[in-house]
Amino acid sequence: MLVGTGIRKKRTPCLPRYRFPVAVFSLLMLAVLAYRPAIADVTVQTGSTDVPSSFQMGTIPPPAINDIASVSSWAVARGVPDRNSGSLQLLYDGLVPRSDDSPRENFFFAPGTSNGCIAVDLGQLTEISEVVTYSWHSGSRGPHVYNLYASTGAQKDFRWNQVDNDADLVQCGWSRIASVDTRNSGHLGGQHASVVSDPSGAIGTFRYLLFEMQPTEIDTPFGNTFFSEIDIVARSQKQLQRIEAPETQSIRFSSIDGRYQYTIDTTAAPELAKWSELELKPIILEWYPRIVSMLPSDGFQPIEKVQFRYLPDAKMSGIPAYAQGGTISMNAEWMQREKNREAKGAIVHEMVHVVQSYQGRRQRNTRRTQTPGWIVEGIPDYIRWFVYEPQSGGAKLSKGARANAKHDASYRVSANFIDWVLRTYDSDGTLLSKLNAAAREGRYSTAIWQELTGKTEDELARSWKDE
Ligand SMILES: [Zn+2]
Repeated sequence: MLVGTGIRKKRTPCLPRYRFPVAVFSLLMLAVLAYRPAIADVTVQTGSTDVPSSFQMGTIPPPAINDIASVSSWAVARGVPDRNSGSLQLLYDGLVPRSDDSPRENFFFAPGTSNGCIAVDLGQLTEISEVVTYSWHSGSRGPHVYNLYASTGAQKDFRWNQVDNDADLVQCGWSRIASVDTRNSGHLGGQHASVVSDPSGAIGTFRYLLFEMQPTEIDTPFGNTFFSEIDIVARSQKQLQRIEAPETQSIRFSSIDGRYQYTIDTTAAPELAKWSELELKPIILEWYPRIVSMLPSDGFQPIEKVQFRYLPDAKMSGIPAYAQGGTISMNAEWMQREKNREAKGAIVHEMVHVVQSYQGRRQRNTRRTQTPGWIVEGIPDYIRWFVYEPQSGGAKLSKGARANAKHDASYRVSANFIDWVLRTYDSDGTLLSKLNAAAREGRYSTAIWQELTGKTEDELARSWKDE
């Protein structure tokens, strides 16, 4: 759902609308054209990367720290910032977020809103050579979509820091400079950047800039971009200092056929770098393609770039590991403690989540059903405990324990139930992939058990307990 920002008002153009005779209107237009500041052939360059780096994207350099954005005045001219957003100051402080989902280190508008405007007063008429915008998020808040406006402020009653809802920006004295959209730059999640510039060396001479932001998606209310940094570069400025790339340590490798690219970011866990290289990497190389082949479905394209990153326990809220899109986050302290016990199995479990991709097809099937949590977690634990490490017996249940267990208790217990169903009813070896395909395509329901085994879920659950 998409709703306008702020209070709903009648359309309020900045200038009253009169009916002019055509000749007078044409004369006025000529006058307007004559006094319009020259806007040359503005170009927009976009870039993105899903391998988090220092915001360097191809030929787009990392953010500058001494551009004129930091000495300008900034205001939210329209719309409401998200209550979890950081302050506007984050956009020109020369600092970038430290992770791909860091609300407090970005500026973003409230859920479900559009047309939010950020305005900048440069303090004086300034010849601007370029405007560079950076954003970062693991999902659809990563790219940015906005219209850039500029003004000299010459129009009578011009207000730089306030734009009424639905006001016509051009009537309010703003000129449209460019439309920016980084969604087609190659990645959805990741770091995104755009450069508005002009081959002549300057996009124009203005005192005010205005960014009219749009959400990157409207399937969910959470499409408002995490803006990380905005650079405004004056033509007179010759020497730009740029942010330093944070020291990152990572191990990069590909599957033997070259189809899958993996990165293990060990920056937050240098003590695990060697273990990652010697122990974790072989597990990924063997098991990611194997899990993909275990869980096929019509037209399914698995994620081909998978990132594994260590995060400190504090950032993981105590969780050992989780997957989001193609990124698996691993609790550095927990992994260190469990490296000879649970660590590898936990990562196999998370790789199954990456392959499941249960969120990815939202657009294609708007009537999709919600897959229950015990299936979402039961399948990864089945693959982990019964395929990857059956010798560990980690999801075994004694006869007594099973009699008291609930098949939909999730994780190991559901894995045990799935294993029993497969051993009992999966004559042609396709049951697991059919179950997964239904969940992935948003058509899971309890009826699938009858379809796949001839028995209802309840009947199966009872037989499993009695076995
Ligand atoms: Zn899980």
